Formats: sequence, C-alpha cells, structure tokens
Amino acid sequence: MYNSISSLDIIVKTISGTGTLPIQTMHKITFCAFAKAGLSLYGATNQQETEIERLTQTIPASHRALTNGKLYLNALSFVKSFNQFLKKPDESVILKEANIHYILDFLKDRVGKVGAIVVLDCGSIPEIITMAGKFTTLNHNTAIFDQAFINPIGATSFVTGQMPSFGREAFLRQYAQLLKETLKAKFYIKSSTIDLITHQEGVTIDNFLTSLNMQNIFDQINHFAKQNSVLITSDHGYDLVADEHGLYITHGYKKECPLNFSKIALFMVVD
Ligand SMILES: [Zn+2]
Repeated sequence: MYNSISSLDIIVKTISGTGTLPIQTMHKITFCAFAKAGLSLYGATNQQETEIERLTQTIPASHRALTNGKLYLNALSFVKSFNQFLKKPDESVILKEANIHYILDFLKDRVGKVGAIVVLDCGSIPEIITMAGKFTTLNHNTAIFDQAFINPIGATSFVTGQMPSFGREAFLRQYAQLLKETLKAKFYIKSSTIDLITHQEGVTIDNFLTSLNMQNIFDQINHFAKQNSVLITSDHGYDLVADEHGLYITHGYKKECPLNFSKIALFMVVD
C-alpha cells in the first residue's frame, strides 16, 4: 500500500509536465487516466469503455496520448495495488490508518507545523494529484505522504463519528479545526464543493468534470500557499461506478466498482 502511494509521485511529475494547460484540463487528463485504469481492471463493457473514450476525445490532441501511455500505466499499477489492499483488509487498519488519533500522531511527527489546513469533503486522488502537478509547475514543493487516512465506509460519518472521542461535536469542520490545532496552523478551510457535486441526482462523469470548478478550488488553496505551507486532505474520496446506467460518481459505494477511492484520503503538503 505505502509503496503504491509513493508511486503517485511519478504521476504528479508527469501531470506537472502539462502545467501550462488550464487546471480544468489537467484534471480531466488525470481523471481519464485513472478512470481508464480502473475500467480495464474491472472488466468494463464496450459501452462503458466508449463513454470514457468519448470524454478522452475532448482532451487537446497534443496531450490525449497521456491517458493511454505513461499516465495510464502508472495509474494502472496504483489502482491494482490499491485494490489488492482493499481485498485483504488487515485488522490493524481500524487501529491505525482509520483511527484519527493515530493519524494526528503521524502528522505531528511527520509534518510538524503548517500555515493552513484545507479539508476538501470528498476530495479524491485525481484532484490531489492535479493540484500537486499545478503547484509543482508553479515552483512549489509538494509532498504526498505515504500514510493515508483509510475510511472503510467511504463516508463523512466515519470521520465525524470519531470527533466525540476528542470531546468535539460530530461535524467535519471539527476535524479541520483539530488538524489546525495539532499542526499549529493559523487558518483552516472546510469545503463541501466536491461532495455537493457527487450528490447531484445521476451525476455522469461528464457532468462531474464540468461542474467541478478546479480553478476555484485551486485559487482558494493558492491564496494560502503563496504565503505559507498548506496541508490538504479530505474525509473520503469518491467512487467511479460502472453499471447498466453507464458511468457515474458517488461515494460509499458498497459493491465492486472500477475506482473505490472513497475509502482513501491522502495528505499533501504544499510549501
Ligand atoms: Zn457526501
């Protein structure tokens, strides 16, 4: 698992090579590479494959090959090892990666102090990678930690349910506040933008990518990153589901699906 998270660095490096493109396009490239990787491991139908191909055709021709080449291959190896990790659940996960007490100790130890905290409700691997790529292009240092938060149910309640053990109310902003205090940050933001989009009725991948204003999210974070270091994380990511209705985005999906990223939340520091 941890080796596979460090393999995300290669993906960040590759996507940072497209850093002069608008972040919305970089995000589409990253998303398509992961979606294609997930679909090929899942054994998708022709119709489902066609849906992602159609989306890929809207990527500028000069960069389209990335979603079949380097980016795709690295996404494939990441998704493969992540799926393996999910298939053999280790009992210790609940005591460690899924436990916020453990996570805070890890962050105190590895990160120490940051200027600001950003918690993106439902922020998933493609968004973190895209932002890391853009920040790299802008000459920031970015680090995605090999320790992630594991959310076994892929829902906010798994995080907020742990808040009372810190003497806090069960709200996600309490988690952001807790991170702020632990890492002695000055500011925190809790954003619901991504989560709200995934909850739209029948959100297709096309709707999802169009509705998600990456530039807005990036600008919000960049405002802090210009002055100080920022820790970016989430409570859970999202799942890419393929069924008879086609491809769509949700979180906390209970059956097998091409990308089960609602179970993982990365930690990235930009400085
Ligand atoms: Zn939600």
